[in-house]
Amino acid sequence: MGARLPTLDEVVYGEPNPGGARKSCSNCSLWVGAKQRCLLHGELDVSALMVCGYHVPGKPLARIPSDYQGVPQDPRASGLVLTQRGTACDLCAFFRHGRDPRFGTCVGLSVKGDTDPNHHPKVHTRGCCSRWTPSILADAITAVYELVTRRRK
Ligand code: SF4
Ligand code: SF4
Repeated sequence: MGARLPTLDEVVYGEPNPGGARKSCSNCSLWVGAKQRCLLHGELDVSALMVCGYHVPGKPLARIPSDYQGVPQDPRASGLVLTQRGTACDLCAFFRHGRDPRFGTCVGLSVKGDTDPNHHPKVHTRGCCSRWTPSILADAITAVYELVTRRRK
């Protein structure tokens, strides 16, 4: 028998952004877009489609606050990565679409207190967690799913 999958409580899970956009620096309140800087990453160039584990949903800043004295984070520790379309469950290898476009099933997590390995939790399509595993296949499936569900409306 394989190792038990983590539960939602055991990963760092982020609810969808207000408005539902996929998470990226472009919708993080710690990003200074005009300077391509992040308040947490010092002098590092941080572009709009990057993202890290400290994402704070909100409007990016117009400028770096004059009194700001942050200690730069190590990008390996913050998990800074460049993405194609931001991060979200629907671009993750563990996500399975359902009938409702707002939710799906995460086969990379188990249900708390449920020992059946075939049971997995329902997650928001535009949520995300620290187990996010980008996948070209998931990306392609989501593009087709979006096309089909848009046509159905
Ligand atoms: S690197 Fe992380 S904290 Fe900085 S702007 Fe991007 S998502 Fe936000
Ligand atoms: S689908 Fe991926 S990002 Fe979403 S909860 Fe599961 S492992 Fe995390």
